[in-house]
Amino acid sequence: MIGAGMAGLAAALRLAEARVAVTLYEAGPQAGGRCRSYFDASVGCRIDNGNHLMIAGNTAIMSYLRAIGAADSLIGPPETLYPFLDLKTGERWTLRPNRGRVPWWFWSASRRVPGSKAGDYLRALRLRRAPREATVTQVLDARSPLFRRFWQPLAVAALNTEAQLGSASLLGHLFAESFGRGGAACRPLVPRVGLSESLVDPALAKLGDLGASVRFGTRLRALAEDGARVVSLDFDGETVTLGAEDRVVLAVTAPVAGRLVPGLTVPDAFRAILNAHYRVAAPADAPLFVGLVGGTAEWVFRKQEVLSVTVSAADQLMDSPAEELAPLLWRDVVRAYDLPAEQAMPAWQVVKERRATFAATPAQLARRPATETRWPNLALAGDWIDTGLPATIEGAIRSGFAAAAAMRRPPAQNT
Ligand SMILES: Cc1cc2nc3c(=O)[nH]c(=O)nc-3n(C[C@H](O)[C@H](O)[C@H](O)COP(=O)(O)OP(=O)(O)OC[C@H]3O[C@@H](n4cnc5c(N)ncnc54)[C@H](O)[C@@H]3O)c2cc1C
Repeated sequence: MIGAGMAGLAAALRLAEARVAVTLYEAGPQAGGRCRSYFDASVGCRIDNGNHLMIAGNTAIMSYLRAIGAADSLIGPPETLYPFLDLKTGERWTLRPNRGRVPWWFWSASRRVPGSKAGDYLRALRLRRAPREATVTQVLDARSPLFRRFWQPLAVAALNTEAQLGSASLLGHLFAESFGRGGAACRPLVPRVGLSESLVDPALAKLGDLGASVRFGTRLRALAEDGARVVSLDFDGETVTLGAEDRVVLAVTAPVAGRLVPGLTVPDAFRAILNAHYRVAAPADAPLFVGLVGGTAEWVFRKQEVLSVTVSAADQLMDSPAEELAPLLWRDVVRAYDLPAEQAMPAWQVVKERRATFAATPAQLARRPATETRWPNLALAGDWIDTGLPATIEGAIRSGFAAAAAMRRPPAQNT
């Protein structure tokens, strides 16, 4: 297993559970990849590299959490609630989809976006029928009142791509898997403590229990093949020769896989995500997160010791100095959580992930490869594999499960 992000951990877990001997090689000093927690000296506490929102209907995440004994490590409101604030008008509302599959909440003014009508939401059906090359704004009317307060924030957050360029059919698929399965499937979930505490540390412990070995600081530099199969792996200063029974799952990022695997087409355009963390404890009864429209911040999350901002598809902010971004975003945080206007900005950190995810455009989706490769002993995993989902934890874990399944099939079936 090469790469200990969510995809690599998920694949390793499935294989180790099946009593396959697993060695996990990770280039970095810790596991989790783009989904991890660490101590930040500026803020003075542990933070997540980025705020990650999951939903109760993420079936692969739930299966993974159960397998590593961390099913109760995510928290969320008892029912499906998405609180929003319009920073331009000061108006607040809470999206409250009903639990079941029949979406009667569309007809309930107190559960939907103010000023919207039931028919506005039914336009989601157009996304399902959208041609592969269509973008979100080619299918949904960007001038409609619901667009700015519903489609736009959800599309940008889900796709990490501007609605003008993001794939309509991918968003449609995602909505079918979430809203289409009823409000209960959309119940938002976040880690009680942190990403590593929920998704990474328990997985490493479980892998240890199952006898898998994990080697940090071990970067795969090249792999050699003989036309029929992958025959060796070249780590810095160490060559691992593969036996006839040995198989490799490459669970690295798309650019790294593109460099390592001859002739592999991978997504090659990316979008940034900006996170800003502020050391302030909001009241424990305040919402776990607030969606914002009309400001710079898009979502603010309440963590144990920090309030954290997310801005998706944030490429235009990447070159702004952190010293400018921190006060700009802090203004939105103060409004989102009704903090005293005079409250001074606390200790902060700005985290810029320039290549947070691949751009979910129709052209990039066409570049996503399948799990299997032309070498029967090499499978691919990662959020950039053709999972049918955007680059998410759910997609990464599904890709890992699929790679593990492919590696357990007899070689003849892999071709
Ligand atoms: C800021 C941010 C916010 C996000 N928000 C959300 C969210 O709200 N909800 C959600 O579901 N998803 C979210 N995501 C996406 C989610 O984090 C990713 O989809 C997921 O973590 C990808 O996992 P992965 O295993 O595919 O890749 P990665 O996490 O990138 O893992 C790849 C691993 O391979 C290692 N590696 C690379 N090259 C080599 C090599 N040559 N040899 C050995 N190891 C190597 C890397 O060090 C890394 O550990 C967010 C991402 C970011 C960055």
